[in-house]
Amino acid sequence: MSIQKNLEKLFSLENKVVLLTGASGGIGEEIAKGLASIGATMILCDLDINKLQTVEKKIVDDGYKAQSYSLDIANSTSIKDCVKEVIENNQKIDVLINCAGINKRELCTEVTESTYDKIMDVNLKGAFFLSQEVVKHMINSKAGSIINISSHNAVSMLGGCGVYGASKSGLTAITRAQCIELAPYGIRSNAIAPGHISTPLTAPLWTDKSRSQYLLDRIAMNRPGTPQDLLGIIVLLASDASSYMSGMMYHVDGGCLAGGQPWELS
Ligand code: NAP
Repeated sequence: MSIQKNLEKLFSLENKVVLLTGASGGIGEEIAKGLASIGATMILCDLDINKLQTVEKKIVDDGYKAQSYSLDIANSTSIKDCVKEVIENNQKIDVLINCAGINKRELCTEVTESTYDKIMDVNLKGAFFLSQEVVKHMINSKAGSIINISSHNAVSMLGGCGVYGASKSGLTAITRAQCIELAPYGIRSNAIAPGHISTPLTAPLWTDKSRSQYLLDRIAMNRPGTPQDLLGIIVLLASDASSYMSGMMYHVDGGCLAGGQPWELS
C-alpha cells in the first residue's frame, strides 16, 4: 500500500458521524470544516440554528457532509431531543466533541450565583449530560471517542476566570472518569486544553493593549493561537490513529505552559 493510502487509513474520518457542540463558534466552525474535509459527517449543534445553517452551507457547498441541529446544552430536554433526532437520521454517533463553552469574567469576591450557574450549566453539566446521552448509543456500537474541549485555565489561572477555570478543571476530571468507566465498551475520552486562541470568546483580551501584551509575553511562539492550530490534535483523537490514547488532557498553547518567552539577558 502507498504511504498516502496508509496515512489515509490511519487518520480518515470517512463514514464517521461526529457530533460537535458550539459548532458555529470561533473554534467550532473551523473544527467542523476541517473534519468534514477529511470525510466526517458533521452533526453541527448550537443555540442559533441560522448561524449553524450558514456553517452547514459552507461545508456542503465544498462537497462535504453536514447537518444542523438546534441544541441548548444547558437544558436536559433539549439534549435528549437532539440526540434522539441525530440517531433517527444517522443511526450512530462515532465521535462527540464537547466544544460549547461560555465565560464571564468576574472576580471570585464578586461572582453572582447566576453567573456561577450559567457557566457551570454549559461548560460542565451540559457536557456531562450530553456525553451520558450519546454514550448510550456508543455502547451499542462498542466504539466511540469523546473529545472534551477544556482550557489552559484548567491548570493556569487568569484573573476573573475562577468559575470558568473550575468548570474546565471539572471537565478534565470527567474526562478521566469517562476513560476508566467506558474503556470496557471500547469508548475513549480525552481533553484538549487550548491556550490563548483568537476567537469572539477571547476578543476582550486581544483587543485590550496591555492584556494582549501580557498574554504575548507568556506565549513562547509570540502569537495568539488560531482555531486551525487545534485541528491536528482533534483529527488524531477523533480517528483510529489514537486507538490506545484515553483519559489525558493535551495542551495546544504555543509554548505557554512551558514558560512563555525568555527574559532578554544582557
Ligand atoms: P465562541 O466563539 O464563543 O463559541 C462558543 C459556542 O458555544 C458559541 O457558538 C455559543 O453560541 C455556543 N454556546 C454557548 N452556550 C451554549 C448552549 N447553552 N448550548 C449550546 N451551545 C452554546 O468560543 P470559542 O473560543 O470558539 O470556544 C470554544 C470552546 O473552546 C469553549 O469551550 C471554550 O471554553 C474553549 N476554549 C477557548 C479558548 C480560546 O482562547 N478561544 C481557550 C481555551 C478553551 P452563541 O454564540 O449563540 O452563544
